[in-house]
Amino acid sequence: MTSLPLIPIAPDDPTGSPARRATMPPRHLADLDLPGRQAVVTGLGESAFRARQVSTHYFGRLVRDPARMTDLPAGARDRIAGELLPNLLTPVREVATDDGATRKALWRLHDGSLVESVLMGYPDRVTVCISSQAGCGMACPFCATGQAGLTRNLSTAEIVDQAVYLAGVAASGAIAGSPSRLSHVVFMGMGEPLANYSRVVAAVRRLTAPAPEGLGLSQRHVTVSTVGLVPAMRRLADEGLSVTLALSLHAPDDELRDELVPVNQRWKVAEVLDAAWHYAERTGRRVSIEYAMIRDVNDQPWRADLLGRLLAGRLTHVNLIPLNPTPGSRWDASPKPVEREFVRRLRAAGVSTTVRDTRGREIDGACGQLAAATVTR
Ligand code: SAH
Repeated sequence: MTSLPLIPIAPDDPTGSPARRATMPPRHLADLDLPGRQAVVTGLGESAFRARQVSTHYFGRLVRDPARMTDLPAGARDRIAGELLPNLLTPVREVATDDGATRKALWRLHDGSLVESVLMGYPDRVTVCISSQAGCGMACPFCATGQAGLTRNLSTAEIVDQAVYLAGVAASGAIAGSPSRLSHVVFMGMGEPLANYSRVVAAVRRLTAPAPEGLGLSQRHVTVSTVGLVPAMRRLADEGLSVTLALSLHAPDDELRDELVPVNQRWKVAEVLDAAWHYAERTGRRVSIEYAMIRDVNDQPWRADLLGRLLAGRLTHVNLIPLNPTPGSRWDASPKPVEREFVRRLRAAGVSTTVRDTRGREIDGACGQLAAATVTR
């Protein structure tokens, strides 16, 4: 038996000790709602409508560079850009795979922290997978991000800007065979979204507010994925949002989940599932159960049956994710026949189940592979 890492669990609290001095970025318009932006602009002695004008550039036209906002007088533009449009993300590397349908972007933040996002094109939709923290404090042993620990929370605008940047890439027609409009956002990049609760909820509001206040995505097309921070899940259920909640369960029993998702030592399987069903009840939304298929670890028929019993009759859907082995990991993905049997047993229990397609494997852009610190290897 491995010794279990103990992790702090207070939401919004940085966990672990930062490797270097990490600081929050300057304020950006995406941190504020429209009245907040108007207050900043009028405070600069400019007319309030300029706030709407820059917001239309940023959220409506996906223009992030103030120099391209040429309908603003140069003086006003410089003043407003200085207060509301600091550069938050500097692209360090962009790599494509799956014939260009998957693109991973590595960003350097203002303090040198590195984070990643992934853009995925499908025939009927375009999805971005975004990061909510630089690193992660949740210490799941099979996840590349979990190995490095937490550097810091991202600001609301740092979260939103990943989606706006990649929406611009999609709009430029970069993904052949897909719509040019970004439609879906999943919080499945680096970090634990519910450990950065207030900024993530503000980011969801900004991503889903109509332009020019926000990016105008449907709340139903936003998925927030969590290790299972129960108080934050319950709080999210009361936000009045219709976003999809994904719960990274990975084991139906506490003994194994304590190891795979160490936060389970604090909130057990029964408690976390209760919070999931509470979310489903409050929102009417089906909760996704994420389950990485790990060979000979969590893929036994009896675990499929136990999972089936826990989930039967609930408003839920299981996403099985073939494990992406992280460098140096002792674990591997389950063989396909084992995976098929797992699916069969869940479906026999009446539980809707699919196997997630694993985009971007060759560029380490797939689920759980985002680990910016390893890019130089
Ligand atoms: N912290 C959040 C969101 C980030 S990870 C969470 O844990 O839900 C997004 C999903 O990828 C989670 O379900 C996570 O458990 C899964 N994942 C992490 N590492 C993985 C790996 N190596 N192979 C497959 N899935 C992985």
